[in-house]
Amino acid sequence: MGVAKLKSALSDNAWTDDPDIIAPWLVEWREKYFGNTPLMVMPETTEEVVKIVNICRDAGLKIVPQGGNTGLVGGQTPQGEILLSTRRLNRIRSVNPVTNALVAEAGVTLQNIQGAADDAKRKFPLSLASQGSCTIGGNLSTNAGGVHVVKYGTTKDLVFGVEAVLPSGQIYHGLTDLRKDNTGYDLSRLFLGAEGTLGVITAASLKLFPKPGHLQRAMVGLSSPADAMKLLEQCRQGNSLTMFEVMPLIGLELVLKHIQHQRDPFDAPYPWYALIDWEVGDEAMGLHLAETTLTSALEQNLIQDAVIAQSETQAASLLALRENMSAAQKFNGGSIKQDITIPLDHIPEFFIIADKEMEKLIPGCRPVGFGHFGDGNIHYNIAQPEGAVKEKFLSHWNEISEAVFDIVDRFGGSISAEHGIGIMKRETLARRADPGKMALLRAVKNAIDPTNMMNPRVMI
Ligand SMILES: Cc1cc2nc3c(=O)[nH]c(=O)nc-3n(C[C@H](O)[C@H](O)[C@H](O)COP(=O)(O)OP(=O)(O)OC[C@H]3O[C@@H](n4cnc5c(N)ncnc54)[C@H](O)[C@@H]3O)c2cc1C
Repeated sequence: MGVAKLKSALSDNAWTDDPDIIAPWLVEWREKYFGNTPLMVMPETTEEVVKIVNICRDAGLKIVPQGGNTGLVGGQTPQGEILLSTRRLNRIRSVNPVTNALVAEAGVTLQNIQGAADDAKRKFPLSLASQGSCTIGGNLSTNAGGVHVVKYGTTKDLVFGVEAVLPSGQIYHGLTDLRKDNTGYDLSRLFLGAEGTLGVITAASLKLFPKPGHLQRAMVGLSSPADAMKLLEQCRQGNSLTMFEVMPLIGLELVLKHIQHQRDPFDAPYPWYALIDWEVGDEAMGLHLAETTLTSALEQNLIQDAVIAQSETQAASLLALRENMSAAQKFNGGSIKQDITIPLDHIPEFFIIADKEMEKLIPGCRPVGFGHFGDGNIHYNIAQPEGAVKEKFLSHWNEISEAVFDIVDRFGGSISAEHGIGIMKRETLARRADPGKMALLRAVKNAIDPTNMMNPRVMI
């Protein structure tokens, strides 16, 4: 009934029930979640979103919003709900270099937003390996992190406000570019990290930043996470540090083995590697900063070797080694993945305890802990032992996760650093979060979406 009403109310190119067209949008990137839906709707305007929400509400249909389908916790995969794709909400509405604000619709890809900022001689600093596919609506809804958090913060820090369609069908108009506005609750922020549970974000007003004169990149070989953290302290002197990513030897080896056109920048292997960016005024300043910082680190035996990028091409090929880490792990058999935050001062201890615990649980398993160490965010992935049966190994997902989360809790970390809760961590959140926090989350959800129409199986 409701599905037929949606079809007749929308223009022909705003919906499809063709299984072949819908199929790619029902499989999650890591192939962990598979979905189904009677209908995919593809609104082109905010008014069309309102129409869809009203019809669904009146017919008792539930909605799962989806942007680029790159989310990693299963939140964008419908299980019988209407799939609302934002990909046709794809206009940049305005760029204002005076207020440093860019207003984009939810379905614009992150890469296109970066490009529009660049055209205006500004920078939009959010940067993820999935940026060619993920959308700003998805970034806002997951409060995405990425590689520049160490300087610019997460998506939450890069937003003036949002426009969203509420489950009631009302539009919340929050597209401001005011830096100061103390007129009650900061309602736009409710939608940041809400994972589609409170409404559909249709547009956002984003903060632009000055374009740095030069980005200086370097990669170093290291002995341990402890040395990486000491190096971090030295690299962030002077406030120019923009990226501090760390990966283990096994990660680099996987990228070199499985991803085309990748080259090892070092002559010898090292147990760990760090990839570092500084934003500075010009190239000479960048080279000077990298050389003095890394020479001093070499003298202190904090690093074993260093490569300082001498060109944009070399800088890009160094970054590709890190960005291909997720893709390369697909070739490594089963992998039990955790996206966690550990307070910076406990990262070395975390690895000692967690690696030992993993070996105790699954002898021969191979921890691949990598990621955004500059902000304490570790992608602590456990690869199956060589030659193990993938399905059998993956059956240990909950056991391994709980063991990791116990250590996370012991250090006062977070069970979800940047990917969100989705359906993957919903029960874990309910069990481990502060009861006061859970009560508030539920109160907000009930107030805005009393019939649980928006992304009903996600987060709470
Ligand atoms: C190779 C790779 C690398 C990645 N690297 C990072 C990284 O470094 N940092 C990081 O944080 N993440 C990373 N991710 C995860 C992912 O790219 C981010 O979570 C991204 O923000 C999701 O955007 P999306 O448009 O694909 O959202 P989707 O996957 O489509 O949706 C994600 C969630 O947001 C909701 N949603 C989407 N659009 C809207 C909307 N308009 N209104 C309301 N709700 C909406 C969905 O319902 C779902 O719950 C990576 C993923 C891949 C595949």
